[in-house]
Amino acid sequence: MTYAIVPAGGLGTRMGSRRPKQYLRLGRVPILVATLRALGRTRGLAGIVVAVPEAQVAETRRLLARLRVPRILEVVAGGADRQESVWRALQRIPERAERVVVHDAVRPFIDAALVGRVLAAAAGGAATCGIPVRETVKRVRDGAIEATIPRQGLWLTQTPQAFTRALLWEAHDKARRDGFAGTDDAMLVERLGVTVAMVQGLGQNLKITTPEDLQTARAWAAPRRRG
Ligand code: C5P
Repeated sequence: MTYAIVPAGGLGTRMGSRRPKQYLRLGRVPILVATLRALGRTRGLAGIVVAVPEAQVAETRRLLARLRVPRILEVVAGGADRQESVWRALQRIPERAERVVVHDAVRPFIDAALVGRVLAAAAGGAATCGIPVRETVKRVRDGAIEATIPRQGLWLTQTPQAFTRALLWEAHDKARRDGFAGTDDAMLVERLGVTVAMVQGLGQNLKITTPEDLQTARAWAAPRRRG
């Protein structure tokens, strides 16, 4: 059985709005709802656990019920960082789950085929998606280039990422015991010395972080005008 975790517990400080960015509108619905609906189209997905800021738990439960967002299992309070939010959601994933897909609330432009590819690649362990770096990469300090990083072999990592439940649990548990904070879940599995598969993501799989990203997302989501 496959379950999903959606970390949506961020406060969106980089967006500069008072409302966390996952509640800002994209078309007719909040970004979070657009993402959950897209993820909900995954074949064979049994349920989704969503982690949201503590102050938004009750309101989000009402919102998702009112909009009849499918496959929602539970809405839980997230933690101080993304890793803690995923960990809290993981506590609510049923033991019968074989695989768990983790997907950021602020990436609404995924499709079922992508989630299916990542899940297939994670059949016996762990997989993420991403895209190869196309630009030339520089490390910069105080407004000046310090080094050029050869882009050969570099990929930008996206979500969805997928894992067997046991492996995701072990990776988070070890990171917690070691006091290690990672920026994605794959990184915690890499620390165990376990191979994580990388599959091709989508160029359109924008992570809505800044006001400019939101503008882009809204332009993409807008119904096409007749010309
Ligand atoms: O802030 P960041 O880029 O890490 O956000 C990625 C995802 O993690 C977002 O969907 C955000 O809502 C979520 N997150 C979370 N709990 C936090 C911080 C971020 O679930 N405390």
